[in-house]
Amino acid sequence: MALEVPFEGGCMCGALRYRCAEAPAMTLCCHCTDCQRRTGAAFGITVSVNTSAFSTLKGETTSWLSIRQSGSKLLFQSCAVCGTRCWGDLPDIPESTLILGGTLDDAISLEPSAHIYTATKQPWVSIPDNIYEAENKPDWRKVFSS
Ligand SMILES: [Zn+2]
Ligand SMILES: [Zn+2]
Repeated sequence: MALEVPFEGGCMCGALRYRCAEAPAMTLCCHCTDCQRRTGAAFGITVSVNTSAFSTLKGETTSWLSIRQSGSKLLFQSCAVCGTRCWGDLPDIPESTLILGGTLDDAISLEPSAHIYTATKQPWVSIPDNIYEAENKPDWRKVFSS
């Protein structure tokens, strides 16, 4: 089932809630070691939405700025009560917000169109044939067009 719009999500304890009024621009699974570490899981699910369609419904956040080797910055926003990371703001690309896919109420309806950094993917994760895959840094035009 496709994700219905608008959609909502939030943290584990329920104190932090958000809403997005538009369909995601892109959903991808990232298998890099940073995403494995920050999630404690096999890969991160990143849902890119237009910041203009995204709003916080309730709750306080704490922020942490991640700066990757490439210099790209992501300001993670977590629930101030339970610590669940829910989304990241992009200081250099303020028109886009990156939601952490597992925090959607209807996360099961997400349809990732790309798997990236698969060079470090867990060997037991298999990727469907018809999905764009990049062993390392992706071609972003392909990620957004697929
Ligand atoms: Zn919480
Ligand atoms: Zn990653």
